[in-house]
Amino acid sequence: MALKHHPTPLSGGDRKALAKELGRARAMTTILAVQSSEARAKGEALIRQADKLLCESVNERWWSDGGPLDPSPTIDQAINGGYSWLQIECSRCKAARDVDLATLAHPSTTFVHDLASRLRCRKCAKAGKRPGATLLQLAQRARHPDPET
Ligand SMILES: [Zn+2]
Repeated sequence: MALKHHPTPLSGGDRKALAKELGRARAMTTILAVQSSEARAKGEALIRQADKLLCESVNERWWSDGGPLDPSPTIDQAINGGYSWLQIECSRCKAARDVDLATLAHPSTTFVHDLASRLRCRKCAKAGKRPGATLLQLAQRARHPDPET
C-alpha cells in the first residue's frame, strides 16, 4: 500500500502531533476493518439461517399438503442453507432420485419449484415419455445416490 504524502510541519511540536494523528488513523483503519468483517460474518450467518428456515418451511408445506410447490428457495439459497439435495420421484414410474443441486446446469437463481418441470426421468425418456418430477423434499444429504451421475 502506498503511503500518503503528508507535508512535514515546520515545528517539532506539530511534527509530533502529526505523527500521533497518523498513528491514530492507522489504528482506526484496523479497528474499523475488523468491525466490518465481524458485521459481515454476522450478516452471512443470519442469511444462512434464513435460507435454512426457508428450506425447512418448504419441506413442512410439501410434506403436509403436497404443495403448493411455490414459493420455494432458489438453488443458491437451498445450498447456502445446507440443503443441497432435492429428493424427487418421477410422476409416472415413481422412480426415486436425489438431485445434487450444486451440480445442476440450471442457473443458481432458479427457484427449486421450477425444477419440477425440468428434471426428466431418464427411464421414462427412453420410453419416449416426458413426465415431470414430483418434488418430495429438500435434504441435507443424499438418500438414494443417483446411479446415473
Ligand atoms: Zn419415470
